[in-house]
Amino acid sequence: MPAPLEIALVPMLKDNYAYLIHDAASGATAILDPSEAQPGLKAAAARGWTLTHVLDTHHHNDHCGGNLGIQQATGAKVVGPAYDRARIPGIDLAVDEKSGFDFAGHHAQVLFIPGHTKGHIAFHFPDSKAVFCGDTLFSIGCGRMFEGTSDVMWPSLLKLRALPDDTRIYCGHEYTEANIRFALHADPDNAALKRRAVEAKQLREAGKPTIPAVLGDEKQSNPFLRADAPELKARFGGQDKPDHEIFGAIRAAKDRF
Ligand code: ZN
Ligand code: FE
Repeated sequence: MPAPLEIALVPMLKDNYAYLIHDAASGATAILDPSEAQPGLKAAAARGWTLTHVLDTHHHNDHCGGNLGIQQATGAKVVGPAYDRARIPGIDLAVDEKSGFDFAGHHAQVLFIPGHTKGHIAFHFPDSKAVFCGDTLFSIGCGRMFEGTSDVMWPSLLKLRALPDDTRIYCGHEYTEANIRFALHADPDNAALKRRAVEAKQLREAGKPTIPAVLGDEKQSNPFLRADAPELKARFGGQDKPDHEIFGAIRAAKDRF
């Protein structure tokens, strides 16, 4: 088994995160969800890395706006969701759950996780204990349902929740503090959440990212992953409601918050 991938976070635009994913043995380096080309090219060069791949979780411009610039500058191969191949600029390789994706000998499980968009995918590297989940799951939050309903998005969150607890979550935005403000309102008696709130505040005050988060912590503190917990069900619709409707009610409350 190859050594775990090296992962570096690259801030872009106002609150986006792109990621460099580097295999030391071969030198292969991917950038995931580049909003723009220049900061990605610079961040790779600063480490002495050359971009060989661009990976996209979904078609929104703040996640693939840098595709063509990076492709032109480096010849990097663009990899994205098969379902949305028509909406991914410069796509060279379309992947889905069946194909998965092999990156320099590291197997990525591709998870089809629609709801934020119709074609959204995650790249899960089990050997590196890392999942890149774009705008579907955030730390203490989740993405808006732009192209899906709760019965589409809730199963996507369950797929992510089923990964091992020690999986690190690399998501598309630094939204954690705003997410925590809502989460404390939605799930006020949650001690794990209160601990995360203190941690996040300390990190942000020190100018540090709150990402990656750890899935095991998210399962205890993220109200969207806890839509089927009795406390949340009681507050957002009652025990008789299907879980996805509870999830939908929490998401709607966050939209209004
Ligand atoms: Zn998005
Ligand atoms: Fe985004």
